[in-house]
Amino acid sequence: MEIIQLPVLSDNYIYIVTCEETGMTGVVDPASADPVIAYLMAKNKTLDCIFNTHHHEDHTGGNEKLLQRYPDCEIVAPASETARIPDIDVPVKDGSTVRLGMCTAKVMEVPGHTTGHVIYWFEKQNALFCGDSLFSLGCGRMFEGTPEQMWASLKKIRSLPDETHVYCAHEYTLDNAGFAETIEATNPLLKSYRKKIEKMRSKNEPTVPSVLAIEKSINPFLRCDHPEVKKAVGMEQADPAAVFAEIRKRKDNFRG
Ligand SMILES: [Zn+2]
Repeated sequence: MEIIQLPVLSDNYIYIVTCEETGMTGVVDPASADPVIAYLMAKNKTLDCIFNTHHHEDHTGGNEKLLQRYPDCEIVAPASETARIPDIDVPVKDGSTVRLGMCTAKVMEVPGHTTGHVIYWFEKQNALFCGDSLFSLGCGRMFEGTPEQMWASLKKIRSLPDETHVYCAHEYTLDNAGFAETIEATNPLLKSYRKKIEKMRSKNEPTVPSVLAIEKSINPFLRCDHPEVKKAVGMEQADPAAVFAEIRKRKDNFRG
């Protein structure tokens, strides 16, 4: 599977995915249509499907125009957000399987950022398209869910293999690193990773995709049940979901 990353708007990433055996092409979370159409035209490709992770405009804004340009294209999106995403052809839920040519993705529901947020895990390709659920060194804002839901969602993501590449929808990593250091100031891996991404950003290189093994070791939102993280927020005896709620609240108020 070929994965092309298109940076759009201020900090969004759109992913164009192609099954190399069949040429079938999809797009994940098209914030806008024009850059996708331009890319597909330049490569002489058509569009077979759109994968939406959730209903937000910066993930679905290109749907309508893409559908006009490629009328046979199917929209794959969360069943529970059908009222908020028009024209869904393939409503998906937890446990659904979707195909792009010979490539298969498992769908997992990860409520929290929105109630219907789903992620697409191409297991064989080690590729996870996770929208705004998990970011590198961060996670999405909890707009619609509860801390318990969102912590359960993040644990689900954490259970995937270490080698999984995390294709999230925003370039927030450097800002997230600044916040992560307020939680785990002494985590040596975090320090060295921050140096690495500072260099990358100074050259305007993307820090995404990340690798799940790295996220498990330095993303505070995946570490709410680790003693050192609990201690850092003064909640050694607390439930991990409560620790998550506290860290999420601190991040919402963080000005780096
Ligand atoms: Zn969103």
